This record gives sequence, C-alpha cells and structure tokens, in this order.
Amino acid sequence: MTNETTRSTAKVRLYGLPNSAEAYEIRDFLNRSVVEFDWIELVTDEDCNRELGLSALRDLRLPMIEFPDRTQLFSPSIREIAQRLGWVTQPKFREYDLSIYGAGPAGLSAAVYAASEGLRTVLIERHAVGGQAGTSSLIENYMGFPQGISGADLAERARQQAVKFGIELLLLREGIKAEFKHDRIYVDLADGSKMVARANICATGVEYRRLGVPEEDQFLNLGVYYGAGASEAPMCRNEHVFVVGGGNSAGQAALHFSRYANHVTMLIRGANLAATLSQYLIHRITNTPNIEVCFNAQVTGLEGDATLQAITITNEQNGTVQRVDTQRLFVCIGGVPNTDWAKDTAIIRDNAGYLITGSDLLRAGQPPASWTRTRDPFFLETSVPGSFAAGDVRHGSVKRVASAVGEGAMAVTFVHKYLEENG
Ligand SMILES: Cc1cc2nc3c(=O)[nH]c(=O)nc-3n(C[C@H](O)[C@H](O)[C@H](O)COP(=O)(O)OP(=O)(O)OC[C@H]3O[C@@H](n4cnc5c(N)ncnc54)[C@H](O)[C@@H]3O)c2cc1C
Repeated sequence: MTNETTRSTAKVRLYGLPNSAEAYEIRDFLNRSVVEFDWIELVTDEDCNRELGLSALRDLRLPMIEFPDRTQLFSPSIREIAQRLGWVTQPKFREYDLSIYGAGPAGLSAAVYAASEGLRTVLIERHAVGGQAGTSSLIENYMGFPQGISGADLAERARQQAVKFGIELLLLREGIKAEFKHDRIYVDLADGSKMVARANICATGVEYRRLGVPEEDQFLNLGVYYGAGASEAPMCRNEHVFVVGGGNSAGQAALHFSRYANHVTMLIRGANLAATLSQYLIHRITNTPNIEVCFNAQVTGLEGDATLQAITITNEQNGTVQRVDTQRLFVCIGGVPNTDWAKDTAIIRDNAGYLITGSDLLRAGQPPASWTRTRDPFFLETSVPGSFAAGDVRHGSVKRVASAVGEGAMAVTFVHKYLEENG
C-alpha cells in the first residue's frame, strides 16, 4: 500500500500446500488489504511442474508468492510481503500534531477528519488496515450501502480517502509503550523506533477472545481460525464447517459460509439467538436451509494430526458430549481490548482493560486525582490530557462500525480543542 490513492490491479499469485498455516496467514492479510490474488494449491510434483516448471515439490520453500512483475518470495513473512509491496515506510517527521494508533474504522475515520482539517497526522497500524471490520464479508447495517459492503472494501475506501487528504500511514508497526511528558506523547514501537506527537487517539480495538481449549495453539490456522475467515469461505466447498459464537459477527460468518459449504453449524452458548443477534440476521439464518444452530453448546476438545479433523461439543444444559468430524472451526466470540501499552501510564482502564473516558472518569463530580487540568476531561478524553480513545477500545462503547467511525471523527474535534488550549 503506497501512499497513493489507487493500487495496482495486476494479480499476485500465491502458491502453497493445502492446509498450510503460513499460507492462511498470507491469504488473510492479502484479502484484508484488498490485494487481488490467485491461490494455487500445490499437492503433487505434477502440480509443481505444471504451475512453475519445476520438477520436485519438496525442493520448493512454500508458501511462495509471485508479484505481477514476476519477482518471487519464498516462505515470506507478512512484513517481507508488505515491504515488497512498498507499504512499509519510514515516518516523515520527528513530531506530529496527532498520532492515531489502530487503523480500524475508528482510526481510519479519525485519520480522514484530522488530515482533512490540516493536522499533521500519522496513523499507525500493526497489521492490516480495517481492523475487525476488515474481516467481515458483508457489513449490511452501515449507512449509505443498501446492498452492504465488504469490510475490506470499506476500509480500503477509507484508506484512499485519508491518503488523499495527506495522512501518513505506517503499517506493520505496533505501539507497545507510552510515556506522557512535556505535553507530548512518546510511544515506543515494536520495531525499536519512537513516535512523538502533541496529542493521540487510541483506536486499537479488541483482540479475538480464545476458546480456552488445551489443543487450541496446535491447530491455530490449521483448522481453527479466529474471526470470520472471509478469505477461507471459497475453500469450504462440500465441507461441514462450524462457527462458534452467537453475535452479529458469527451470524454474518455463518451466512457467508453457507454460500460455499455443504453445511454450517453455529455453536452458541446461550439458549436463543435473540439476546445477541440483530433481527435481520436471525431472519436470514433461520431461513437458510444449510445453517443449523446448536444452543447451549460449547467446544471442549479439538483433535487431529497435522490439521484439525474433529471437535468435541458439550451441551452445557444436559451434559451430553458429541464428537463430530470437521476440518474448519471459526471462532467469533468477541474480544478483549488492546490496551497493554497503557498499563504503566496514568491512563485509567476498567476491570476488563477498556479505556475510561470523559464523564465516566468523574467520581462525585470530581476528576481522578491524577488529572492535571482545571477543566473536566473532554468527552472521549482519557485520564491523561490530550490522549483520546475511540471505538471498541473505549469503555462503554457500542461495538459497531458506525459508532467507531462516529467516535473517530468526534475525537478529532476534541483534539483541536486540546491543541488550542495548549497554544
Ligand atoms: C467478523 C466481524 C463482523 C462484524 N460485522 C459488523 C457489522 O456488520 N456491523 C457493525 O456495525 N459492526 C460489525 N462488527 C463490529 C465492528 O467491526 C467493530 O465494532 C469495529 O471494527 C470497531 O472498530 P475499531 O476501529 O474501534 O477497532 P478494530 O476494528 O478492532 O480495529 C483496531 C485496529 O487497531 C490495531 N491495533 C491494535 N493494537 C495496536 C497497537 N498497539 N498499535 C497499532 N495498531 C494496533 C488492530 O490491528 C486493528 O487493526 C463486526 C466485527 C467482526 C469481527
């Protein structure tokens, strides 16, 4: 992703073994970054000969990615791919008016408004643009898109808009530690560099929650996937896939898979869908013949050799245990906030780690003792002046694309007020 408004349309080709965890990670990244690519499975020496003119599959370091100019990378990391695509760049300035962490809907929206309103802004994203929304196959409840829009497309549009207004986007960089001094925020990035800004917006969202089953790590990306697995659906033809979770993201994932898989089973801990799922999704799910919903169900075991082959499901109500064959389990059970970076700062978090902002910081009408201003914290401002939070990471936020976008835009207004106040 260069800082241009458009991207190359020529196709990337990705070659790999079926069920390769590394190839899954690359497909997921390319899909979320709206890079068009062909996925070519190599199983035999003949495949290798036909596709690449090479005789022995075992001599190839897979996965292998070929770019439109025919250059190739063997067994590459995501960073190497992003670097090759020209997306890993160096910061242009030593100090910014505003640094935004996280390029999900909240961060992207903040970036669009901040850059369009003339703030020297940097947007820092540790992985792919789009955040959780980028993994959604179809967002149907975001205003202005009556036919729905894929999360990756929505994110790509926002990225282009932000770039058009002059945002500086630094990909594959992660904020790991923050320090607030001299009215500046100093952030250590995971690559060892430092970022300095006069104000910041934390839009780091949430991280997928795990199942908590012992064999989970063994099958990660080898049959067990976190999130909606939008890139995997076309590979599920004739399969029986399982989706864990009863929220909107799980419902959307089930509907998406139902277009490809033979059968989709949703495993839900609760006793009904109404408590967690929007009405339009309930209607669609109950009217899709190849989706089955299992209530009171919990995954309690995973089995397989190199890849997942079966799962154990326990009915929490009557205690019955069932073992079923499947090669794919998608886990969509919400998440925990990405706020570890704040733990050694004066930023106040709630018990679950969400950042507390605005009037939620007041106790008996008083700001916390650490608060250094005579005014109360602005709406969306954390307990450190000039440090704001927007989107899912914020205590009490509505977990929706529209609200994250709204908060991102709103936070920028308060950044202006804060910067004016600081002269
Ligand atoms: C599969 C799925 C489908 C969904 N469908 C819908 C829908 O149809 N409608 C709807 O309204 N909502 C939907 N949601 C919810 C919606 O996507 C979220 O509410 C929204 O994405 C929250 O946006 P955000 O920007 O606050 O955080 P996120 O989307 O979580 O983005 C946070 C970003 O911050 C990055 N990050 C985290 N830590 C750091 C760090 N230290 N440094 C740098 N970057 C960091 C992450 O990599 C991520 O890109 C869906 C969610 C999922 C998972």
